[in-house]
Amino acid sequence: MDLFNVYPINPINIVRAKGSSVWDAAGTEYLDLYGGHAVISIGHSHPHYVEALTAQLNKIGFYSNSVEIPLQKQLAHKLGEMSGKDDYALFLCNSGAEANENALKLASFHNGRKKIIAFTNSFHGRTSLAVATTDNPAIVAPVNQTENVVFLPFNDEEALTGAFQNFGDEIAAVIIEGIQGVGGIREASIAFLRLIRSLCDQYGTVFIADAVQCGYGRTGDFYSQDYAGVDADIYSMAKGMGNGFPIGAISISPKFKASFGMLGTTFGGNHLACAAAIAVLNVIKEEDLLTNTQSVGDYLLTELKKFDRVKEVRGRGLMIGIVLPEELVSVKRDLLVKNRIFTGEAKPNIIRILPALNITRDIADTFLTALDERLKAV
Ligand code: PMP
Repeated sequence: MDLFNVYPINPINIVRAKGSSVWDAAGTEYLDLYGGHAVISIGHSHPHYVEALTAQLNKIGFYSNSVEIPLQKQLAHKLGEMSGKDDYALFLCNSGAEANENALKLASFHNGRKKIIAFTNSFHGRTSLAVATTDNPAIVAPVNQTENVVFLPFNDEEALTGAFQNFGDEIAAVIIEGIQGVGGIREASIAFLRLIRSLCDQYGTVFIADAVQCGYGRTGDFYSQDYAGVDADIYSMAKGMGNGFPIGAISISPKFKASFGMLGTTFGGNHLACAAAIAVLNVIKEEDLLTNTQSVGDYLLTELKKFDRVKEVRGRGLMIGIVLPEELVSVKRDLLVKNRIFTGEAKPNIIRILPALNITRDIADTFLTALDERLKAV
């Protein structure tokens, strides 16, 4: 049977990993600064993570949601504590798209409306509603889902205010990434986030923060936009939450408790997934990874901005975009082929750095030296 592949594939077979290193079948080591697309939050094969999952699997890996799963409560408690959103409720699912799908569904249950505001360059996943709110030329939404989604220019306060003035009482939800990932590491401005909050309050619209890529500590703030002092009504998360074990979630403001019962999934919140997510939170807390993310992230951003051949450096914490001029786009590929460093991309000319939150300054320096070498070689 043929595989249905939608992603460009590197012909590299990764068979082993530890921390921020991965090895192919021939034993060649690579530095992983892509974190398997922002998924590896505490490093590959972290000892606490391996131990927690192994111990859990030896007890029980899965039973259905028809029984009580105390690990779910433990996870909700820890997440509430670490995100500072203790009074929110947690719904557990399996991926980022599923999290956003449920967030958007919940919004329309709550206010009975259909219209959704999303932004240019957004990425929210590939299920029907999630893809309908995604603005990416390579990804097409099913026709029946697009008619109620209105795309506005990212960070454009005037356009947003205008839309609410025109049809605010029809808008179920606004969905936004605190920092757009796939769209090129673009940060929502504090003023824009505050405006969304105040318009949503004024019109009874649900504010959904898609923290799937930028959340779970990646920026040094738990949900990426905490620095703006703005609370969303729903946060969606996945990727770094399970450090590679599939798990997603939405964290929901107490305002929506009435609609909560309408969500469900077979695998969401299973024993093993919860054990993975709890282990990740334990490591983030015990190893003070939010502080590390901030300090190594700040260091990288400062140093990267000194490269005069780079067009622009954007981001926050360990979510960084390096914008290359046209003549240097080969640098990303060269980093992999010549220096054996995995990075991500957003549009062919933007290198995306999404490493584990526990990378050291030494690792950052290895990357900076390699980038310098590659930039000079072109
Ligand atoms: N939201 C954002 C911001 C993402 O970056 C992604 C994945 N790239 C998703 C949602 C979808 O997540 P998943 O692939 O787990 O469905």
